Amino acid sequence: MTKISIFWFRRDLRFEDNHALFQALSKSEKVIPVFIFDTDILSRLPSRKDRRIQLIWDALSEMNQILKSKHQTDLLILHGEPTELIPALAKSTGAEAVFTNTDYEPAAILRDQKVEKELVKSGIQFNTFKDHVIFHRDEITKEDGKPYVVFTPYSRAWKKKLATEQTQHFPSESLLHKLTFPEETKHFNPISELEQIGFEPANVNISGTRTQGLNFLSDFSGRIQKYGDLRDFPSKKGVSYLSPYLRFGMIGIRECVTMAKSASSEGSEKWLGELIWRDFYSQILWHFPHSAKESFNPVYKNLVFPNDEKKFKAWCVGKTGFPIVDAAMRQLNQTGWMHNRLRMVAASFLVKDLHIDWRWGEQYFADSLIDFDLTSNNGGWQWAASTGCDAQPYFRIFNPELQSERFDPDGTFIRKYVPELAHVPAKFIHNPSVMSESDQLLYKCKTGDNYPEPVVNHKEAKVFALELFKKR
Ligand SMILES: Cc1cc2nc3c(=O)[nH]c(=O)nc-3n(C[C@H](O)[C@H](O)[C@H](O)COP(=O)(O)OP(=O)(O)OC[C@H]3O[C@@H](n4cnc5c(N)ncnc54)[C@H](O)[C@@H]3O)c2cc1C
Repeated sequence: MTKISIFWFRRDLRFEDNHALFQALSKSEKVIPVFIFDTDILSRLPSRKDRRIQLIWDALSEMNQILKSKHQTDLLILHGEPTELIPALAKSTGAEAVFTNTDYEPAAILRDQKVEKELVKSGIQFNTFKDHVIFHRDEITKEDGKPYVVFTPYSRAWKKKLATEQTQHFPSESLLHKLTFPEETKHFNPISELEQIGFEPANVNISGTRTQGLNFLSDFSGRIQKYGDLRDFPSKKGVSYLSPYLRFGMIGIRECVTMAKSASSEGSEKWLGELIWRDFYSQILWHFPHSAKESFNPVYKNLVFPNDEKKFKAWCVGKTGFPIVDAAMRQLNQTGWMHNRLRMVAASFLVKDLHIDWRWGEQYFADSLIDFDLTSNNGGWQWAASTGCDAQPYFRIFNPELQSERFDPDGTFIRKYVPELAHVPAKFIHNPSVMSESDQLLYKCKTGDNYPEPVVNHKEAKVFALELFKKR
């Protein structure tokens, strides 16, 4: 038994069923819980009112409240470089070990290697555990030991493995009395206000607390059976909205899988499939770290995109003249979240209709999404751009108008986010530019005036995209 250890929170902002926290508490007499606002990550955020920081702050505040009221201790929140702070904290508190859950992103792997190297020099252990995914690294490979790059066989193997293994749970919450906040930690300037890290409260329509995450999980468990029927319709309450909670770990992936398994319906099977995509993309990036920066498929590595900045700007602000794309982008800008069907439509449109490098769009999503996760974002973008593993073939190009007619038939979603089209009837809402002048007057929408003309002609743009991919 270790006398004192450190538990480092990262993508696992909960006490409940937290694998590495459970290990730390089980193997140590006392554990110092710490979260670090990493200056390296913070410096790259475009706004001082970042919604992700707000969500993290919500979660930490609730956790701190729990520790204060139930265990008369605090969560240590620091600001700085983890590669310096973790070793320094361990040394000054006499900790013999640091425990944390594994992070699979290339930059995080490098950071953790540096931390470990520094700790080992002082004889301090660095222990990591799987928590963020169900199966990681090469736990699921093909018979020849190579990683799966096609989703369906991966998902089959994933389900088979899950069926043969009991999903383990880690009752960390029962050991929280071992958490401590020693005097020496005060020298590290603990953070008690968001402003101390140079950020301001941000406008988010959800709270990042675990309590709110549990409410979402419970609400969704009551409608999971309809997931398959409703999940593609952005105006319907069909999906779980759990992605920010899964991203930062206020809700754990094992809790979701357990809920899906016990629901046992067509809808829950479908939802389980989406959770498997998350594991799939995580192992893809782990096996193929080059795909974080370039095409997964080397064939498309040198695609030359025209990259028209004006068109990119129109896409970012939701003024392309394609209502479904504009509504999607405005949903992202206003809330920090976008429906999955719309992520596919907006991403496809940027690459195949506007001929802009998928990495521009990937970065815009990375800056804006409250659930931004490099593995799923990169996987989703490369899927839509046809440059990824098991991607949409480049010759199958989404028609934004048809997608709109199919998934927002009466235009309810479009009208919510594009008020210029509030009075336009369903028959014109997917392409208001075809309205006659008198209709435009009648429905208070004049294209080229209060709503843009389409920035491209889809048919021509499609021909251009096909050529671009053929030439590569
Ligand atoms: C271009 C593009 C970018 C994306 N970027 C991200 C991202 O940065 N972060 C992110 O979490 N998801 C991303 N996704 C996947 C997906 O759109 C979101 O996970 C989903 O919309 C979140 O809403 P939800 O929680 O209601 O999902 P639900 O439909 O309820 O699904 C439950 C969970 O399964 C996982 N999931 C669902 N679909 C996918 C998928 N296609 N790939 C990986 N995991 C999935 C998520 O963790 C999600 O929370 C992206 C998809 C595309 C096409």
